Amino acid sequence: MKSVEVKGLVLRVVDVGESDRMLTLYTDKLGLIGAMAKGAKKITNKKNTGTTEYCYSTFILVERNDKYYVNDAECIELFFGLRSSIDGIALGAYIMEVLSAVGTTDPEPDLLRLSLNALYALSEGVSTAEKVKASFEIRVASILGFMPDILSCHDCDEREGDFYFDVMAGVAECRECYRKKERRHETVSEEHESHIVYILSPGARTALNYSIYSPIERIFSYNLADEDMHLFSRASEAYLLHHLERGFRTLDFYNEVKR
Ligand SMILES: [Zn+2]
Repeated sequence: MKSVEVKGLVLRVVDVGESDRMLTLYTDKLGLIGAMAKGAKKITNKKNTGTTEYCYSTFILVERNDKYYVNDAECIELFFGLRSSIDGIALGAYIMEVLSAVGTTDPEPDLLRLSLNALYALSEGVSTAEKVKASFEIRVASILGFMPDILSCHDCDEREGDFYFDVMAGVAECRECYRKKERRHETVSEEHESHIVYILSPGARTALNYSIYSPIERIFSYNLADEDMHLFSRASEAYLLHHLERGFRTLDFYNEVKR
């Protein structure tokens, strides 16, 4: 029987019978996996805390018949502060759902680090939920291979002013090029393709680029005016959902809470 030590985040816990827990984990070495933790539901069990939802733990796993069993689980970080606000609870749940949806058995260390940083920032209250959410979303998309290219205008290389972000194409155009194209479409009778377009102010675009290229440890270290934050967060959410081709139940809940 082979045992392996991994570090991982507990995304989901399902109680099984009287005393067991079935876990969904996102781990550093095995990516997204399921693991059975025998006896972990019992408060007195030494695996109890380390197999709690939202806990980042060190696990000793053994593999038997293509299934993982948790031999030991020791909590490294519990992100306890998440529970102190409804925003934190809702956004934490969204982060977990995104990880479960995009994770595979191919480990993606940046995805894990990003998620841990996001949970930490929320839990410690060092960043607002809106900032954590927007930066998380665009960075997840980038890590998964959908990195947008919005450093300059896609057509003329302009770098200043308001931009029009084409979510489907992952590029942006300056005001002038966008208007030119609009006029062209008006004069051409043929039906033109549909586009999802979001306006980005200079501040919103800077924050977007920062969230794509910054070191993950510093990803939430920026300041942004409310108006720019609003444009950034709308674009970032739309971008991730479009490229993942799906919505999230937990995101609907978060948005409801925010309203
Ligand atoms: Zn241009």
